[in-house]
Amino acid sequence: MAAAHFVFVPLMAQGHLIPAVDTALLLATHGAFCTVVATPATAARVRPTVDSARRSGLPVRLAEFPLDHAGAGLPEGVDNMDNVPSEFMARYFAAVARLREPVERHLLLRADEGGAPPPTCVVADFCHPWASELAAGLAVPRLTFFSMCAFCLLCQHNVERFGAYYGVADDNAPVVVPGLARRVEVTRAQAPGFFRDIPGWEKFADDLERARAESDGVVINTVLEMEPEYVAGYAEARGMKLWTVGPVALYHRSTATLAARGNTAAIGADECLRWLDGKEPGSVVYVSFGSIVHPEEKQAVELGLGLEASGHPFIWVVRSPDRHGEAALAFLRELEARVAPAGRGLLIWGWAPQALILSHRAAGAFVTHCGWNSTLEAATAGLPVVAWPHFTDQFLNAKMAVEVLGIGVGVGVEEPLVYQRVRKEIVVGRGTVEAAVRSAMDGGEEGEARRRRARALAAKARAAAREGGSSHANLLDLVERFRPRHVAASEAANGTTEPPPPPPPPR
Ligand code: UDP
Repeated sequence: MAAAHFVFVPLMAQGHLIPAVDTALLLATHGAFCTVVATPATAARVRPTVDSARRSGLPVRLAEFPLDHAGAGLPEGVDNMDNVPSEFMARYFAAVARLREPVERHLLLRADEGGAPPPTCVVADFCHPWASELAAGLAVPRLTFFSMCAFCLLCQHNVERFGAYYGVADDNAPVVVPGLARRVEVTRAQAPGFFRDIPGWEKFADDLERARAESDGVVINTVLEMEPEYVAGYAEARGMKLWTVGPVALYHRSTATLAARGNTAAIGADECLRWLDGKEPGSVVYVSFGSIVHPEEKQAVELGLGLEASGHPFIWVVRSPDRHGEAALAFLRELEARVAPAGRGLLIWGWAPQALILSHRAAGAFVTHCGWNSTLEAATAGLPVVAWPHFTDQFLNAKMAVEVLGIGVGVGVEEPLVYQRVRKEIVVGRGTVEAAVRSAMDGGEEGEARRRRARALAAKARAAAREGGSSHANLLDLVERFRPRHVAASEAANGTTEPPPPPPPPR
């Protein structure tokens, strides 16, 4: 039986790459061939995961395409969103868009390399408007991939579609998101629209919107049962089919693959598990702000002291230690010296095996920047969150966690903390950190209700991913729907299979 061949084109950023790879692996477990396009240094981060899947017989491969650094005027080594200096961001996106031609040539001329069938569908991150041309060149449909929740997508869509910010001069003035049954307030500073708040990026933002509107469907790493009205609302607003496939992290079942997810961790899985094994169930606070956000010096101090004062054992992921100034590093080392020997705290200096930590029974709450992957991973583990959004979709994800799902405690951040239009220092004080952590971990009846809701969400998430569940069924549907059309039709004519619904025509 000829298989579907999905070509994934993720944004080279961990929060987009990781769920795209996991989705590819899940589709491959259902028989589809999957190619994941990546720049070399980014590909290296997920190669162990992809190689191990290949060794276990899954039809998945990485296809590497280097950026033309010299031609694009980019510093050598710039390859992933987490190492692009902000002044080079426009050049970086332009360089990535120029990958269309080599990717297309590779897929057309060397299509069968590694036993690949011809491509039947492009699954492109919403940040790659050029993937429309790629799909057209390959004469296949194109689906838009989002590592965001449908609530966020629908809110963002509605504020733009109904012009909710028109006439509102103050970026921090709350407006009600139109077209929702629930009252949700948001400010332009919190939800400006993808790339709409960056001067000079207006055309790119328009290109993204056009590509979203013209795609042949949407794939989201979310769970239908967590947000059915928003999934239906976004599909209706866009007038296209939407496949929910989350939580895609549940692809990973063994310690080895959980620990290697997304990058090489800065701590061995055994050491991490030993530390967690020594703790009471539900007693540990996990703190991470994802792959992009980096707390400034004052914030690092307040966070550390607040965590320590909460009295709960914690794991704190210190991203890019080399970016901390001397004073912050000195503070972190002193904190580590105070808490580590007694087992009260574990600082992970670099990449953490997050999925492994969250799935351990000792995990009790997650202090998160509310990237959608992290928020969904917390819900999947049945954990309450301390919601600490920094920028972009994180504010709407925080509202999703606190107001919609009822599993979050906010720290009161109402304005972007990074990528601000006007530089403004906003620091969450140690007292606020301590109170939010205590509320998430203890919190009396309210805290218990939050934990109950989180456990119920975990059950829904796991059920969705199991055979017969909504995400499992959507993955099967994708694999069937995007098989080569002529093969599906001739099998139907021979009576070997039911005819699948035809995929939408390429645009
Ligand atoms: N992640 C991880 N270890 C780290 C930091 C992040 O495994 O030290 C993973 C995390 O599990 C999630 C992704 O990276 O899957 C981050 O995505 P998210 O949407 O939460 O945030 P972003 O990094 O995009 O801001």
